Amino acid sequence: MTFSLHGIGVSGGYAIGRAQLYSHARLEAPHYLLRPEHIEAEIARFTEAVENVHAELLGLQKHIPGGAPTELTAFIEVHALILSDSMLSQAPKKRIREEGCNAEWALAQQTEALIAQFESIEDDYLRERRHDVRQVADKVLKSLMGHPGNAPLKTVSEGESILIAHDLSPSDMVLFKRHKFAAFITDLGGATSHTAILARSLNLPSVMALHNARALIQEDDWLIVDGVAGVVIVDPDQAILDEYRLRRNQWLLEQKKLRRLKSSPSTTLDGIQIALNANIDLPSDVSQARNENAAGIGLFRSEFLFLNRDDLPSEEEQFEAYRAVAEGMAGRPVVIRTLDVGADKSVRWMNDTSVNPALGLRAIRLCIAEPQIFITQVRALYRASHYGQIKILLPMLASLTELDQALALIGAARGSLRVADIPFDQETPIGGMIEVPAAALAAEWFARKLDFLSLGTNDLIQYTLAIDRTDDAVAHLYDPLHPAVLSLIDLTLKVGQKMGKPVSVCGEMAGDPRLTRLLLGMGLTDFSMHPAHVLAVKQQVMRSHIGELAPQVKKLLRAGRPERIQELLEQINA
Ligand code: PEP
Ligand code: MG
Repeated sequence: MTFSLHGIGVSGGYAIGRAQLYSHARLEAPHYLLRPEHIEAEIARFTEAVENVHAELLGLQKHIPGGAPTELTAFIEVHALILSDSMLSQAPKKRIREEGCNAEWALAQQTEALIAQFESIEDDYLRERRHDVRQVADKVLKSLMGHPGNAPLKTVSEGESILIAHDLSPSDMVLFKRHKFAAFITDLGGATSHTAILARSLNLPSVMALHNARALIQEDDWLIVDGVAGVVIVDPDQAILDEYRLRRNQWLLEQKKLRRLKSSPSTTLDGIQIALNANIDLPSDVSQARNENAAGIGLFRSEFLFLNRDDLPSEEEQFEAYRAVAEGMAGRPVVIRTLDVGADKSVRWMNDTSVNPALGLRAIRLCIAEPQIFITQVRALYRASHYGQIKILLPMLASLTELDQALALIGAARGSLRVADIPFDQETPIGGMIEVPAAALAAEWFARKLDFLSLGTNDLIQYTLAIDRTDDAVAHLYDPLHPAVLSLIDLTLKVGQKMGKPVSVCGEMAGDPRLTRLLLGMGLTDFSMHPAHVLAVKQQVMRSHIGELAPQVKKLLRAGRPERIQELLEQINA
């Protein structure tokens, strides 16, 4: 039966494919198809992994110290029993044979099927055993991933599966980068949550805040994801499918046309050069930024180096990552933001018990509270500055005292490098993010002590309008065009002009082509966005005359009612 679900389209485009219900194991597990001649070897690899885990459990059993609680012995026995059950030790082999997929994927699929069966058991005790099933399966998965197969890969054909999750964390999304899903949809989340930002960076159609998608959609259901309208159509009939195939083809054609702008200069009709930079999360994203011919990296969210792990990255590891980005951009500027964890980007070592983490010990606040983590990062950044044009960006500044403390720690890091005679660029610019209303209102004070400012509009909107950017219940209130938000942006841009300090926008507003002409008319000349959006924004830049836009934008900035602002925006974009 055809039905549709409505949410927020967080990343445009259309996808048609089959539903795949989310499981963490599936995201952890690599997925590839095997050539028929490699199937038996893959089955043998799976058998070996099961035997390894079996031996591990036997070893544990033998070495239980006398006096250990009897539950421990029972626990190991239960795990050994689960492992020997054909549902876990034999069924994945059948999947490898029938589906021609790798062992990790077969195991992850089988585990999810098993867990779904457990979830429907009424008896509480038996239902709880699903956790044991997952633990045993994880052990086998770990063993497999420690010994990857040698079979040459055939990639899974693109655009077939659509991932359905109740919720996805930014860390999940990083794992998600490895897979070739056609789209993803979630029940929770707001349009500028980090999960949504990552979805956009993958350039995949996605819809969030659907509330009941995970419960209503079944594995393998046919789906259409309309990332433009924020709609998901389940089990579409032929007429709807035909309509969406048409829309999808048109969308792909438009994307193709945009490619032609790649080497065009990003200049307005009145000859003003506009810098279109890329936001990246990992060093490997540099290739995408280069591919879109970005002017530089306007925001490297360094915290992604800290996610999905139990320990902290060492100075050496960070240095290598920052150097790779600097060198990868071959002399183009690279703005690296210092650690911004907390709120929706939680790290395992942080143990965040804050009642309201978005207002808690986040970003620069955490770095000041943990100076050693900050100094290690800053040393790595300065060391990398020797290999490219690095700029350091401090997130979530709210008070000048904080800025002074951060600058003092940076001074200490520089001093320690000098003592050790380690080369670095003494002129490395230091900038601050304007993403808290207090910082925008006091921008002049911050600008005196900093070399540049960068408007983090995602947080600026969140904190100005008191709307949690990750909460789907208030997502409809999240409004980049709210007059208060526009005033704070305008104020910051004016401070920059007056004091001769560059100001960029690196929040999601910068990558939204519907807002490009508005921001240009406000005087913005430095944008930073996902590489995937650079060409669409460039298209807007190339058709804009700032001299003509400025008076229209001035009028919009004086408007107050949302409908009037919308109307004026439409005129600006016409
Ligand atoms: C912002 O807040 O606009 C920003 C760019 O930082 P993040 O989205 O990582 O919080
Ligand atoms: Mg931010």
